Amino acid sequence: MSAPQTLTRTTCPYCGVGCGLLAGADGSIKGDPDHPANYGRLCSKGAALGQTIDLAGRLLAPQINGQEASWDETLGLMAETFSTAIRDHGPDSVAFYISGQLLTEDYYVANKLMKGFIGSANIDTNSRLCMASSVAGHKRAFGSDTVPGTYADLEEADLIVLVGSNLAWCHPVLHQRIAAAKTANPNMKVVNIDPRKTATTDLADHHLRIVPDGDTALFNGLLAHLADTGQLDDDYLKKHVTGRRPAITQARLGDPLESGLTEAELAQFYQLWAGTEKVVTVYSQGVNQSKCGTDKVNAILNCHLATGRIGKPGCGPFSVTGQPNAMGGREVGGLSNMLANHLDIENPDHRASVRGFWQSPTICTQPGLKAVDLFQACADGKIKALWVMSTNPAVSLPDADGVAAAIAKVPFVAVSDIMARTDTGDLADVLLPATGWGEKDGTVTNSERRISRQRAFLPPPGASRPDWKIICDLAARMGWAESFNFSSPAEVFAEYVALSGATQDFHRDLDLSIFADMDYAKLLPTQWPQNGTRFFADGGFFHGNGKARMLPVTAPAPIQRDAFTLNTGRNRDQWHTMSRSGKAPRLGAHLAEPYVEIHPVDATSLGLSAGDLLALRNRYGQAVLRALITDRSAPGQLFAPMHWTRQQSTSGCINTLTAPVVDPVSGQPASKCSPVAAQKFNAA
Ligand code: SF4
Repeated sequence: MSAPQTLTRTTCPYCGVGCGLLAGADGSIKGDPDHPANYGRLCSKGAALGQTIDLAGRLLAPQINGQEASWDETLGLMAETFSTAIRDHGPDSVAFYISGQLLTEDYYVANKLMKGFIGSANIDTNSRLCMASSVAGHKRAFGSDTVPGTYADLEEADLIVLVGSNLAWCHPVLHQRIAAAKTANPNMKVVNIDPRKTATTDLADHHLRIVPDGDTALFNGLLAHLADTGQLDDDYLKKHVTGRRPAITQARLGDPLESGLTEAELAQFYQLWAGTEKVVTVYSQGVNQSKCGTDKVNAILNCHLATGRIGKPGCGPFSVTGQPNAMGGREVGGLSNMLANHLDIENPDHRASVRGFWQSPTICTQPGLKAVDLFQACADGKIKALWVMSTNPAVSLPDADGVAAAIAKVPFVAVSDIMARTDTGDLADVLLPATGWGEKDGTVTNSERRISRQRAFLPPPGASRPDWKIICDLAARMGWAESFNFSSPAEVFAEYVALSGATQDFHRDLDLSIFADMDYAKLLPTQWPQNGTRFFADGGFFHGNGKARMLPVTAPAPIQRDAFTLNTGRNRDQWHTMSRSGKAPRLGAHLAEPYVEIHPVDATSLGLSAGDLLALRNRYGQAVLRALITDRSAPGQLFAPMHWTRQQSTSGCINTLTAPVVDPVSGQPASKCSPVAAQKFNAA
């Protein structure tokens, strides 16, 4: 009889739900019954993790120009190249593009190196594609990037409004929790606001099929309705909120019918929202990934602030993050316009405080380039050395062919990854083998601000190193050994917690003091704030006057469509560009090839039959995809998943067609509404 397998308590590497797992070196995976995110539940992706831990395709040694090299040689070349670029062209001539897959400790040292030692803020993250609009909306409304919601709120609410969120496929365990709560509470209603019918729609009592970017018109209409029917919380507004009058005036100027809904649908939704005390509005990429994403966020927040539906159990707006550590990245300043611990680059006191703590030779003085602009700077020849960590921008960014060409123009490109071949890695001068999930230690923060441990249960393969270690090794070679002299992720985490304490005069939400007394090895999933208080329960917000702000927001002009609009998103069983999830046969069986959804009316007009190929084209690129004829999207709207790379499919990399349009406030790309021309593909 074989010995019982030892299971390690860790966290899932996929989505922002942040489920706890018990994992074994033999590939055993169970949901952790004690983790408050999932209480033992798992989704298809989490359950198949055991099929992804083999070493096939792994990058196991550093490479320079395709040849194996030693760490010494590789890091020496990197240090010399980055130092020379900084000396000859200034600190803004180099850039890091990092990832919500990184652990908080990786994120922390990468930001410390770029912002405090190199002296540039040219470090952005693929989380820019995930929740930057929510960050910007929170800061405008609350005075800080504070997510007020908790998962328990979803179970206490009587009305859950899901906006631009296919929770069933993208945050499946939260979907499971809501489904269970709905069964237990027959009074609970779920409204799904989405231009597309999805698996999440099946759970909803009402599906409101708005037009793309119709969210602002809808929520401005709700705010006007609340004001016009005397359903604002005047007392709450007086004590805790500014900006009421201009926000309502602006909302009244709009036409809610521009949302694409009928008067009857609008009236029913407005009455349901106004008549339900406990409302949680959950929103995700359909809101954030838009040319007006930040305004859409504030349109939602306005309605919660105007009615005091925030800071109470079962109430509030709730942005759910896509990536496993998008939230942890925010905490340590992972975006190019932030400093660690929710501090601001533009604030000289904040900069001085962080610099003083780090005892760094310099500190960035202005925000750096956001993702799309960063790769445009590569195309323009302004970036002389680029380091991409744990992400695949040549596939995942809009105008993916343009991004690949931009990377190819950079004189020196380093890529850290677990895989030997990625579309981005193939463009690199230097490849750095990173240890992956299950092989490294650190922390992640999930969508409800709960910090959990990822723990190693496998040996590091080949010559791979954890990302935090690679970054510190490079920093040492660039002359800053003393400031990056960490021997473990526990030491990095301790410095981050200490920085939070040292700068607490400037940020009031991110109090991490309880972690100072915790044993890192035994750290249990812990939510901040840790003392059981609920954000905004006392009506106090983080603007200087202690109040929240309602913002006047304007709905965008309706789209004038002379072609199709292309929406992109995710499949149930794949994750991003499939570096890990693509390994699991069980996951590949769900939807095996790239496809594009097209409405039957459009299919008929293009002469398409089931199984035919559809050719898509616009000024950025082209793709040929299997047509899936379905009424999930309205006529004129197409949907395609974003997972397939050029290496996996010669014609299915959908972001070759995504326009590099961004929200002007957050810089988040509008990945869900690109104009394309479509015609039946004739192989002849
Ligand atoms: Fe992992 Fe997200 Fe699934 Fe949980 S819901 S098991 S975190 S992919």
